[in-house]
Amino acid sequence: QFQNVGFIGLGNMGSRMVNNLVKAGYKVTVHDINRDVVKMFTEMGVSARETPFEVAQDCQVVITMLPSSSHVMDVYTGTNGLLLGENAIRPALFIDSSTIDPQTTRKISLAVSNCNLKEKRDNWVKPVMLDAPVSGGVLAAEAGTLTFMVGGPEDAYLAVRPILQSMGRTSIYCGGSGNGAAAKICNNLAMAVSMLGTSEALALGQSLGISASTLTEVLNTSSGRCWSSDAYNPVPGVMKGVPSSRDYNGGFASKLMAKDLNLAAASAEEVGHKSPLISKAQEIYKKMCEEGHETKDFSCVFRHFYSGKDE
Ligand code: NAD
Repeated sequence: QFQNVGFIGLGNMGSRMVNNLVKAGYKVTVHDINRDVVKMFTEMGVSARETPFEVAQDCQVVITMLPSSSHVMDVYTGTNGLLLGENAIRPALFIDSSTIDPQTTRKISLAVSNCNLKEKRDNWVKPVMLDAPVSGGVLAAEAGTLTFMVGGPEDAYLAVRPILQSMGRTSIYCGGSGNGAAAKICNNLAMAVSMLGTSEALALGQSLGISASTLTEVLNTSSGRCWSSDAYNPVPGVMKGVPSSRDYNGGFASKLMAKDLNLAAASAEEVGHKSPLISKAQEIYKKMCEEGHETKDFSCVFRHFYSGKDE
């Protein structure tokens, strides 16, 4: 149904997602404030526009993949933003895949649905915004195997599912506006805390005399098993092909995990939810960043618990 897709935010994730949209045959129009990355795409034959507003003029759906809430707010409602102008020609559907807090998502979604828009064919429709953050990181973005968690009207989700499937393997409908964003920050909270628990257990094990490899084998066949122990082990040398085995390079940066925990903390506070583990995890990841590990993979928190000789 949709052929013309706009994409704003061509960073680590967005650039790879655009490649997959192009491969799937969509006519993509891009924008980013970084001119070098835009040039890379125009040299490949992808069209580009100077502002989000101009992208909106030419596309049926616009996807945003930006660093944080303030950037998304700016691209939607700022000068030359997607929602600029009364009664402008605009796409009927907006998808934000950035990791931001559900409260901001709901505010932007409301601003979108309060707009009047005119589709190219002159019929007036109410625009809709979906929040569709992703799990999977840069490798999954490249391979087109992301998981999308989607909030917003279900019919809009069903309409854009083919677009999401060209960039991801799984998409899960999570309910109304903001629920995709809520799912994402809750997933990352669980991941942050389980990585801390696994790291602490593996560090204590080594101090008590059991090697991290042997303890990992025990955890992975026992009730302590989790993604951090069996797919993303934080101890250097225990598992091949994971960031811990390449000095914590690549993967999911500690500063992004710290950012996601801040979103979880702010969201929890807003709904009056007590969150002692968020606070503790925030404290540890913040310290890791301050100690110079902000660009290292988040599994480097193992170093917080163990500074002895690794395996
Ligand atoms: P990134 O910093 O690499 O890319 C962001 C891009 O947005 C940059 O190219 C930047 O120039 C552009 N940008 C910033 N402000 C802009 C504006 N006002 N107008 C137009 N372009 C603008 O970030 P990323 O790693 O691609 O992550 C994007 C989002 O995806 C973040 O919210 C992040 O939390 C989330 N995410 C990242 C990963 C990951 O592993 N990197 C995984 C899952 C989710």
